[in-house]
Amino acid sequence: MKITGIRTFLMHAGAPEPKKWASDATWSNSPTGGRATNTAFGGTRNWLFVKVDTDEGITGIGECSGWPRVIETALKDLAPLLVGEDPTHIERLWQRMHVGIMGHGMTGTVGGGAMTGIDMALWDIKGKALNTPVWNLLGGKVRNKVRIYGHANTPEVALSLKQRGITALKCGGVSDPVRKVAAIREAVGADMDIMIDLHGPPWLTPADAVRVARALEPYELEWIEDPIAPENLEGYRRIRDAAHVPLASGERMATIFGERELIERELVDVIQPDTGRAGGITQMRKIAAMAEAHHIMFAPHSGSLGPVAEYAALHLMAALSNALILERIEDDWGGRAKTVIPHPVQTDGFLKVPDAPGLGVDIDEAFVAAHPSHGNSSIQATRESKSYAEGTFDENVYVQTRLGRKRYFNPGDRS
Ligand SMILES: [Mg+2]
Repeated sequence: MKITGIRTFLMHAGAPEPKKWASDATWSNSPTGGRATNTAFGGTRNWLFVKVDTDEGITGIGECSGWPRVIETALKDLAPLLVGEDPTHIERLWQRMHVGIMGHGMTGTVGGGAMTGIDMALWDIKGKALNTPVWNLLGGKVRNKVRIYGHANTPEVALSLKQRGITALKCGGVSDPVRKVAAIREAVGADMDIMIDLHGPPWLTPADAVRVARALEPYELEWIEDPIAPENLEGYRRIRDAAHVPLASGERMATIFGERELIERELVDVIQPDTGRAGGITQMRKIAAMAEAHHIMFAPHSGSLGPVAEYAALHLMAALSNALILERIEDDWGGRAKTVIPHPVQTDGFLKVPDAPGLGVDIDEAFVAAHPSHGNSSIQATRESKSYAEGTFDENVYVQTRLGRKRYFNPGDRS
């Protein structure tokens, strides 16, 4: 079998016009309503899918995160390295791509995202060629269903997750984390697992993060995610030594080389490579194996990912012994379910592991084409967006070099 071509499918994962997003009925009436005001996240997200065609009529599908509009160009650069090659020699082709981006940096999430999409498609091709699911190629199943967690920042949203049978949730944002967690814990009770993501604010010092982490100790969190900037590895050591709370990180790194220090120095209890940009199934399973040797759990990040990468995560988590839980923003956009065929089956807080050959998923190309890309940064630059506006708390949290500590630890004074 030989690779004959590579096609890309870039889409805007949201309403066709950015202005419509904030008032999009599907969005604000979603069961959780959890992100109804978060235009900065949903309004700028793109999903990039890739199809790898072969001369035997088998086509593989993958998804590339990292910076989708940039990666679409990167894939055009990588295509000549792949066309004419046997797609079943996945490790060899991964190494070929890795050397191919040497001049552009080999450990970042953008290059990692490009390799991810191709690698995912190669595993899909191999599974289809052998008429077996990808999880079978990875060693077979450890589990038949994968536990998921939802997102909730208020007690109301947390309760709606609980009512739908979801047994774990993550709240996010560095603003007022202790009161947020306390309110959610009080609402949902003891039988729901809670995590918090502080999103690695560059201004939060390890000493102040220790204070936050210690204050969160009584709530028995499953983890605190990115309590400080994930590049500050020594800071993670200080937090770890000073607070009795599991730590999680890894979403911003790619490949075994990017994740290596978090794992080898045992700075985290949970490693979170992103299924769409960490280097593909090939790298995800190696990262998980490295983590296993250090008794670190594996919980793939999927904050901005689309539904094809989710399928890849399901196959991985079906086969990996240390796979803990999968992030799932199930109701982030009504179009998520229409983007892929079939839609994954979720029951009582679990996703069923697919049984079809390969990844077992395809995109609806017409639906993708009907949602052309526009905007692709983490901040929405529209006049309607109040987020990050000058002088607001949001701007201070993410832009200011050093937020005033008195205001941070006394959020009632922030007006
Ligand atoms: Mg995160």
